[in-house]
Amino acid sequence: MTFRRFLAIGLLTAWSGVVLAQSAAQLADIVLVNGKIVTVDERFTITQALAIKGERVLATGSSKEMRRLAGPATQVIDLKGRTVIPGLIDNHVHMMRAAEMWDREIRLDGVTTHKQALEMIAQKVRESKPGEWVLVLGGWAEEQFTDEKRGFSKEELDRIAPNNPLVAQLIYFRIYTNTAGLKALGIDAVTADRPGNKIEKDAAGQPSGVLNGAGAVRATLAKLGEAEMGQMLANAKALMLDLNKVGITAFQDMGGRGFNVRQIDPFRTLAQKHEMTVRAFYNLWLEPETPAQVDVVLDKIKEMKPFQGDDWFDNTGYGETVYFPLHDNLLAAKGNITPEGLAQWRRIAQAVADKGMHLNIHAQLRNTIEAFLTEIEAINKVKPIKGLRWTFSHVDQLEPQDIERMKRLGMYAEISSRPVVQGALMMKVHGDRTYNMPPLRMVQASGLPWGLGSDATAVTPYNPFATLGWAVTGKMVGGQEVLKDTITREQALIAYTRSNAPFLFQEANLGSLAPGKYADLLVLDSDYLKVPADRIKEIKPLVTMVGGKIVYQAK
Ligand SMILES: [Zn+2]
Repeated sequence: MTFRRFLAIGLLTAWSGVVLAQSAAQLADIVLVNGKIVTVDERFTITQALAIKGERVLATGSSKEMRRLAGPATQVIDLKGRTVIPGLIDNHVHMMRAAEMWDREIRLDGVTTHKQALEMIAQKVRESKPGEWVLVLGGWAEEQFTDEKRGFSKEELDRIAPNNPLVAQLIYFRIYTNTAGLKALGIDAVTADRPGNKIEKDAAGQPSGVLNGAGAVRATLAKLGEAEMGQMLANAKALMLDLNKVGITAFQDMGGRGFNVRQIDPFRTLAQKHEMTVRAFYNLWLEPETPAQVDVVLDKIKEMKPFQGDDWFDNTGYGETVYFPLHDNLLAAKGNITPEGLAQWRRIAQAVADKGMHLNIHAQLRNTIEAFLTEIEAINKVKPIKGLRWTFSHVDQLEPQDIERMKRLGMYAEISSRPVVQGALMMKVHGDRTYNMPPLRMVQASGLPWGLGSDATAVTPYNPFATLGWAVTGKMVGGQEVLKDTITREQALIAYTRSNAPFLFQEANLGSLAPGKYADLLVLDSDYLKVPADRIKEIKPLVTMVGGKIVYQAK
């Protein structure tokens, strides 16, 4: 049933004309009744109904109680038993970077056959002008295809895209491309490999269409060019609607490799025009790779002024990568920690502490986590960081002794669902240890402030139900179990809502359906608390509301 029909039926049954004791100021604009409202408040209260006034939740309670808040002008919506949860908050995404090429990108998130994936790419090619890039920029894994677990050959890509350069980027370590793509990238039989960028050759010595390594991905993305601001605005809007469709109502952005500060502008502009449909918070990232670049970044950090925005758009601090040479990779056995690198890392982190700002720190592997903690403890002695919510992102190899050190420093942890697409590859590098990467249950039991995010879009899918399903079942796309350290569905939901609000410095406004907080909520097509665990990943919102306004409704 569409929401409009929901609405029509609701209006007929509204208590129109009933004189109530409430003054107009206390009457609700919208009342949702006869549902299962999972408020995710501190006691995980579940109620039948919820009333909204303006942008915020007015009250929650029984249908009878909430109907008392309805006046003649109130929309009363009968949920017919549907489950409502708070809008989902992704604590770690790279959406501002992704928005630039969103119109060129075709997403394979959730597609279960190779055949269908190829058909979707072919459809995108048909919709594109000759010569335009067609891009698959992550969020998928070969394991998700039930018919053929593989990538794409040059021949099959040539067949569907003879006149368009096409690249399919896989988990930031491989590119599949076609003949037009190789040409556009300037790669032929004599092009030499570069560090981290290996051009695979066929028996005849010609490039096969497979480019291996993170360097190959970066080199390819660098060739795509820049979109015009008008296109970027349209893309940012389209991207936010795609997020609304899967239940995201707020995110924290982390810049990311290849990020350019101009990619913040479309979101700032849309916020000024009151056209946001997702609340966008970001940590500024300036990507220094050399000591000279660190000098420049230190000056920029001194000029930073976070928290000049509002509850739709704001800068919360700096991060996620502090000094790029120390950026670790989950598909490596160890992080590449060096004393020289740590010295540069320390200069930046110290500058952020001196400024009294929030810092988000990418750290996945053991030696990285330990080395950064030692640096932060030293910084904390000079300039205490308590209250700044310094955060480790990912922490896939976190151990109990790290948690104790983090707690003493007042640190938080953002955990991402990267194993959803790369769990099988992690097994090849880390063996059985993968089953505890990340240690969700240990962190949950420890009392460390933490939340769940996706790290979308270049590696992982952006659908939050993919992350929630993985956190509960431990299964990656395609069904292989890759995590044994799982949590309950209630814990996972808290970690994607109430526990994520503090990363955005929005705990007073977001994260649960409580009076005074924003009416950011989802009406779901099935009961998150009751569906079989393997079906959590398939849950879809029927309605997404942000600030009391419907931003998406299923057809
Ligand atoms: Zn990230």
